[in-house]
Amino acid sequence: MTADGKRTAAVVLAAGSGKRMGTAVHKQYLLIKDRPVIYYTLQAFEDSEVDEVILVTGADEVDYCRKEIVEAYRFKKVRDVVAGGKERYDSVYEGLKALSGCDYVLIHDGARPLISRTLINANINCVQETKACITAVPAKDTIKVADDNGYVADTPDRSRLWQIQTPQSFSYALVLEAYRKREEAMDGTMTDDAMVVEKYTSHPIRLLKGDYRNIKITTPEDLVIAEAFLDNL
Ligand code: C5P
Repeated sequence: MTADGKRTAAVVLAAGSGKRMGTAVHKQYLLIKDRPVIYYTLQAFEDSEVDEVILVTGADEVDYCRKEIVEAYRFKKVRDVVAGGKERYDSVYEGLKALSGCDYVLIHDGARPLISRTLINANINCVQETKACITAVPAKDTIKVADDNGYVADTPDRSRLWQIQTPQSFSYALVLEAYRKREEAMDGTMTDDAMVVEKYTSHPIRLLKGDYRNIKITTPEDLVIAEAFLDNL
């Protein structure tokens, strides 16, 4: 709880199938240094100033996660494990609906195990001030926009480009209403939480400087990189 009595929750997403990883085991359960990816993510939230966590998993993984993750590693802040949906935005909405009585919510990809307690707490401070902020790092590479035939259509000014990570943090009422409107509109174009808030509210969203180590485990080489970062934390 913050000094002014506000409660902050986190929705941690682990309901993806991780097709790009190419393994039978979903990527959030693959091991890094003998512990599942999702362990590191949940431990960072356990160590942070977040008050409670809702873990969103695949429908047939809810019981497994309750026993083998939440109970086994004694995560006291995980208040519930709920089933997600087909797309990431469906899973986020299930997580948001499972919350009540919180003022702010941090939405985080379970597949980003290198999230630090410091960055989580920075999100809490920033969202209290702005009501909407997202973790981001300046783009290191030049980014091109392609046309339909695989040719360069445009080159945006790199100094204005940011790569977006999670947590993405919002006033709970604001983001719940935005997601309710997305659901009503059956809008399938949203690839992150900020897009939903951008499209369905007029609230400005602050970019909060993140950490280049806060990678998303997506393809097999990411596990090697994550292990190297963990060795140097
Ligand atoms: O697939 P991608 O890597 O973009 O997923 C980002 C995060 O969203 C992952 O932690 C994944 O488990 C989660 N996700 C989810 N429900 C889905 C799809 C993705 O919780 N339907």
